[in-house]
Amino acid sequence: MMSSSFKEHLSQVLASSISKIEPVSGGDISKAYCVHTSMQRFFLKVNESGFALEMFLTEKKGLESINLTKTIKAPEVLDCGQYKSSSYLLMEFIETKNPTSKELETLGHQLADLHALSAGDSFGWSQDNYIGSLPQSNKNHSDWTLFYVHERLLPQLKMAKEKRLLISSEIPSEGNLLNGCERFFPTVKPALIHGDLWSGNYIISAQGVPYLIDPAVYFGHHEVDLAMTQLFGGFSSSFYNAYSEHFPVVTLQNERKDIYQLYYLLVHLNLFGRSYYPSVIQLLKTYFN
Ligand code: ADP
Repeated sequence: MMSSSFKEHLSQVLASSISKIEPVSGGDISKAYCVHTSMQRFFLKVNESGFALEMFLTEKKGLESINLTKTIKAPEVLDCGQYKSSSYLLMEFIETKNPTSKELETLGHQLADLHALSAGDSFGWSQDNYIGSLPQSNKNHSDWTLFYVHERLLPQLKMAKEKRLLISSEIPSEGNLLNGCERFFPTVKPALIHGDLWSGNYIISAQGVPYLIDPAVYFGHHEVDLAMTQLFGGFSSSFYNAYSEHFPVVTLQNERKDIYQLYYLLVHLNLFGRSYYPSVIQLLKTYFN
């Protein structure tokens, strides 16, 4: 239940009186609401955790970075701030609908357009951000393997050890991680990627326009986004057919895809616990023993 003073604060931010605030389902991390004014609707996320303001500030920057590319849309952010103990992120409300195959084709083309924009020579981002509610380190590296091992695999492996989800003998040495990745990673150009592209992180507007939401952006190998789309059953063939007109799609047997999915499985292990342990161990044994 939202306090009337928070509601009043939001109506000042919007310079308009609020007629109602309705809960929106589907959020994993924060509470989500639809805020109605007489003219418009807005989407609001609220979170009371100590790290939430920083998480929302990086989400805002991620959404803005995607929008700046003018390749694929992300909701426009209106405000990000804190009211008493509540951090919040306020953005454009996108009325959603179930996608048609034509719209998933557009998603495929537009994601490939985002991935085709190469920027600079380093992997990483201007700041650290979050993957779900876990910190994601984006220190810059000019070498993709070094970036992936140091900023992606090692921090999650360390966290899994701290949480007693993995024991020391199950964690490969840095040398084994570097060698394992090196064998399968090609020379790649840094591209802006969504960073957490599962099926809940895109929406199709009522007008049929794809939007990316809840990003964990950084400059990385574009195949990381594709690997994530394939982790839990995959997107539709219209999406992959369209995407593959621009870049080859990682095939189901691709080792690189396994190694990119390992990061997300480690994140799931750390967020949701032991049900992800068997998949993590299998990949660690296959590639990094
Ligand atoms: P969380 O970070 O807590 O997981 P999400 O950003 O995934 O929250 O948002 C929760 C749900 O709200 C999404 O699954 C989506 O359906 C819906 N949603 C997200 N952004 C918008 C938006 N701008 N307009 C309308 N609905 C949205």
